[in-house]
Amino acid sequence: MKTRPLLNRRLDGLGTTIFAEMSALATATGAINLGQGFPDTDGPESVREAAVRALRDGRGNQYPPGPGVPELRQAIADHQHRFYGLSLDPDTEVLVTTGATEAIAATMLALLEPGDEVIAFEPFYDSYAACIAMAGAKRVPLTLRAPDFRPDLDELQSKITPRTRLLLLNTPHNPTGMVLTTEEQSAIAALAVEHDLLVVTDEVYEHLTFDGATHVPIASLPGMRERTVSISSAGKTFSFTGWKIGWVTGDAPLVAAVRAAKQYLTFVSGGPFQYAIAEALALPDAFFTGFREDMRRKRDLLAEGLRTAGFRVYEPEGTYFITTDISPFGDEDAYTFCRALPERCGVAAVPNSVFYDDPEAGRSQVRFTFCKRDDVLRDAVERLARLG
Ligand code: PMP
Ligand code: GLN
Repeated sequence: MKTRPLLNRRLDGLGTTIFAEMSALATATGAINLGQGFPDTDGPESVREAAVRALRDGRGNQYPPGPGVPELRQAIADHQHRFYGLSLDPDTEVLVTTGATEAIAATMLALLEPGDEVIAFEPFYDSYAACIAMAGAKRVPLTLRAPDFRPDLDELQSKITPRTRLLLLNTPHNPTGMVLTTEEQSAIAALAVEHDLLVVTDEVYEHLTFDGATHVPIASLPGMRERTVSISSAGKTFSFTGWKIGWVTGDAPLVAAVRAAKQYLTFVSGGPFQYAIAEALALPDAFFTGFREDMRRKRDLLAEGLRTAGFRVYEPEGTYFITTDISPFGDEDAYTFCRALPERCGVAAVPNSVFYDDPEAGRSQVRFTFCKRDDVLRDAVERLARLG
């Protein structure tokens, strides 16, 4: 065997995701898993039944069409129109993917050349770093700083160089819960137009905004449609993270480029689930408002418990995560803290430090999810109170 490392050097240091590591730790110790973001209650019964029906009726059991089944592409276009007033051609401007994860990978592989620079918020969702690296491009972080985690737009401007190819946005933002305002997005849009940049937005938490914050797709702002690839997914909105149905929307040439890459990653995505998600997207408004309200209540329950336990809580405006500061517990770094947390009190969490290039920047930040049953959250809060 040659002595060269097996793992490609672009993926050096990206061996195991923090989500897999902390979920394995939670399982091994029997801790309540508030680390990886997945609900412990499945999505609507009617949507599950729709998947069963599709399976039984033989819809999607063989390779579905590469861009996605027509019913789902139409439902995605209808959803974008219903919530954001965006008009999309379901045949050329919508692409179904295997979760937002594949959408991110296909978009980066499609749009980037080696050496291109991508400006992305930091802390960043971990697959961004891996996908930008796999495309041979360079990630340039724009750090969101506590306590508000709002982007500094002058700093953004200063990071744009002739090599900058695209801005990778994520709003509502995982892990901080920051939601970009329309004013911030307009300023970002103006920079994108001025410097002729592409914009990719990860909007998987689009339906999870609280306290008057609202999600506005940057694609709906003037001059942005032709330069924006919008990414979303059914996983978070409908509580079916295991189904891995995501999508890309945008102008036809952009979607065609992403489709070219997607063809050689998975070719097509989970057939019967596509029919079920088409029905989910057409659920009445009451579903979306009810889900949001339920999650807001859970956020308040966990935030209050974390504060009582001694954490400094950064109240999120969106997503189903709460970022906290652990300094009140001593000088331990977030990763060491999270490694020990299951043993100390029977709860698992995720250290934000791994979502920064410089782990020192997120040294005292730990993320907890609140997409769990109320009794589970209450149990977790009681356990955390023992930390003292
Ligand atoms: N982007 C963000 C910001 C996420 O939190 C996640 C996890 N749901 C994804 C993308 C991946 O989404 P999916 O599970 O649909 O692949
Ligand atoms: N998006 C989820 C999180 O941030 C889980 C992602 C994953 O497991 N890859 O926790």
